[in-house]
Amino acid sequence: MADTRVVVIGAGATGLTLAVDLARRGVEVVIFEKGAEPFAGSRGKGLQPRTLEVFDDLGVVEAISAIARPYPEVDVYDGENKIAEHVMSEVREATEDVPHPNLLMLPQWKTEEILRERLAGLGVRVSFGREVTGFEQDEDGVTVALADGETVRASYLVGADGGRSLVRKSLGIGFEGDTFETERMIVGDVRAAGLGRDRTRVWVRDGAMALAMFPLPGTDHFQFMAPLAADDPPFLTDSAFDHLVGRVTSGVTLKEIVWRSLYRVNIRMAARFRSGRVFLAGDAAHVHSPAGGQGLNTGVQDAYNLGWKLAAVLAGAPAALLDTYEAERLPVAAGVLGISTALYRRAGEGQAEAFRRGEETQQLGLAYPHSPLSEGPGSGLRAPNVRLADGRELFDLLRGPHATLLAPAGHPSPPAGIKIVAVDEPLRRAFGITSGDVLLIRPDGYVGFHGTPGKLESYLPALRTAQGRQPGSRPEKAMSRSSGGAPGSAGTSRPM
Ligand SMILES: Cc1cc2nc3c(=O)[nH]c(=O)nc-3n(C[C@H](O)[C@H](O)[C@H](O)COP(=O)(O)OP(=O)(O)OC[C@H]3O[C@@H](n4cnc5c(N)ncnc54)[C@H](O)[C@@H]3O)c2cc1C
Repeated sequence: MADTRVVVIGAGATGLTLAVDLARRGVEVVIFEKGAEPFAGSRGKGLQPRTLEVFDDLGVVEAISAIARPYPEVDVYDGENKIAEHVMSEVREATEDVPHPNLLMLPQWKTEEILRERLAGLGVRVSFGREVTGFEQDEDGVTVALADGETVRASYLVGADGGRSLVRKSLGIGFEGDTFETERMIVGDVRAAGLGRDRTRVWVRDGAMALAMFPLPGTDHFQFMAPLAADDPPFLTDSAFDHLVGRVTSGVTLKEIVWRSLYRVNIRMAARFRSGRVFLAGDAAHVHSPAGGQGLNTGVQDAYNLGWKLAAVLAGAPAALLDTYEAERLPVAAGVLGISTALYRRAGEGQAEAFRRGEETQQLGLAYPHSPLSEGPGSGLRAPNVRLADGRELFDLLRGPHATLLAPAGHPSPPAGIKIVAVDEPLRRAFGITSGDVLLIRPDGYVGFHGTPGKLESYLPALRTAQGRQPGSRPEKAMSRSSGGAPGSAGTSRPM
């Protein structure tokens, strides 16, 4: 009989990120995926700078960077004629404060493969072919029912189960927004001849984007995206792909279609991200248009926001810490949805700048200034990297599951789970720390507190158990897992 603290439903980018973050914190986590094997498509291929920082902390950025590449420049064609060139995202030099400055392209299946390998290294394997069919929560935990008849009892459940989330529907949480029924797109991964791999190519027809082919790094595939005209049937046959290519290009032929999907643009957000012991993250909580590469990235950061809070509460921190997940992530998701929707509209109108990706999509500026966890000047902002006077990099010191206290030399040792770094001149300058003050960087790299050591004392109880248990506090007990049969009196919730 295994003990489980957290059940994660869905092994997409969001669920995998959360499972990695929990596992590296020593939290017992089970991740169920209804697919019998890993998902094969390139879908969310854009990794934003902030996501790369998260991946750096989680120990996967090197594996990602070894294959991922900046987006190539975009050539726009009308038939055989090249009519424009665009830079989707300027390639920037790394700076001291932003070591990962570029939007990188990597097929989503590859990102997930790298996260799965990291998770396996932490001793957790995805349970493929295990569909969750319902769950029931009570005061002490959640009973999760699987299609194969097994039930699992856990302290918390996270629905990272995608846009059609069973968890969200079971909770009866509204998913407000629009589905653009007439705005359909054929998406696929293809092998093709007649075009090089050094550029992204876009073809227009009647002034609007008709086909885009993105050369996917680490493969010999292109991601194929073709909006369907209102009168096109929603077909996914080989000949349909050939037809979409043939009507706008000359000399390009498809050799193989390795993955294909019909995509309907959905722009929606859940009314709540939490109900009791159950949380929503990633596409389960918000779905975006593909423009601007925000969906996967926002899900990764949901997971990164939630992971340390779940670990802290399981170790004895006040349960109110979990309220800050929705308080922080719901406004961020709403803002990000606005950005991706605006970009999608511009692309639909054929505007040239629709291909440009500025700072607003990089997610480095996302912040939680109004969070109940933000106290003092600059709190809620992302902590930048800083090169310390002794040559060390702040990001190297932040890496790992702990929080970090920047304090004057001689400050008493903080509680377990918080590392102390002596404030030097570069840190003072970067964070505007005035003499005698301290600054606390949360485990997810945001400034939580900035002020006097005295005030820190009253701030700390919410965070201090992020790693170690607070003396005298009682951690939540692990939940048990049982095999076979219905989940007893708990019953199951089912989607409506
Ligand atoms: C064409 C296209 C291009 C895109 N481009 C980008 C981009 O450039 N950048 C970007 O950030 N995003 C992009 N996205 C969006 C991105 O793919 C999604 O936001 C991302 O996949 C969300 O990840 P997730 O883990 O939250 O959900 P998903 O990837 O949907 O994963 C959910 C998982 O849960 C599993 N599941 C569902 N129900 C159950 C159940 N009951 N039991 C067990 N398992 C279950 C599913 O099988 C699935 O594997 C794009 C999407 C498309 C379609």
